[in-house]
Amino acid sequence: MTAGPSPTLVVIEDDPQIRRFLRTGLSAQPMRIFEAETGEAGLIEAATRKPDLVILDLGLPDVDGVDVVIRLREWYTRPIIILSARSNEQEKIKALDAGADDYLTKPFGVGELLARIRASLRRATLPGGVEGDSVFEFDGVRVDLGARRVLRDGIEVHLTPNEYRLLATLIRHVGKVCTHRQLLTEVWGPSHVEHGHYLRIYMAQLRHKLEVDPTNPRFLRTEVGVGYRLLVE
Ligand code: CA
Repeated sequence: MTAGPSPTLVVIEDDPQIRRFLRTGLSAQPMRIFEAETGEAGLIEAATRKPDLVILDLGLPDVDGVDVVIRLREWYTRPIIILSARSNEQEKIKALDAGADDYLTKPFGVGELLARIRASLRRATLPGGVEGDSVFEFDGVRVDLGARRVLRDGIEVHLTPNEYRLLATLIRHVGKVCTHRQLLTEVWGPSHVEHGHYLRIYMAQLRHKLEVDPTNPRFLRTEVGVGYRLLVE
């Protein structure tokens, strides 16, 4: 799945059917999987195994899944993918705000699961991250984060300061689902978390300037009801 040694996963899920589904679905992959049935056991398992990725169900018998994310994020920097039922949309957003990377809504398929795991592991192994003065390139777009310059197919694109900040924030979290709250806070500041329309306007402008087909974006993706994600293959 990735170069180097097999990734280690910790699965925190109380439902034995879902655990079996994950085990079976991942059995053909070179991965080591450790399971926990409660949040407390999962936190211990994660601390012991130091996994490359955690898959976490939000509906656990002992503790709130969002609290598990918060406690993991005190020390754990690798990806967390949450599993949520359609009935806990709000919990899902809270978990993403607390630092989870991605989510799968039950029921989900093996193909979708593998794609999310691959994307999260790839993001986590990006050499050196995308901070500071690095250059980030995708799909004909070149962003020089040091010089704050953006080129599309070699031609300079003029972005307003807010458009640029939005793009830079998505790049900083490439592959991760960014919630509306997270983007509004990071781009406009904490007093603007209710101004969701800013995001829609600026995202439409960014797509218009950077996407080949702004109505069918390839990389500036909408996560319906949740936020946006920069998806780079
Ligand atoms: Ca559950």
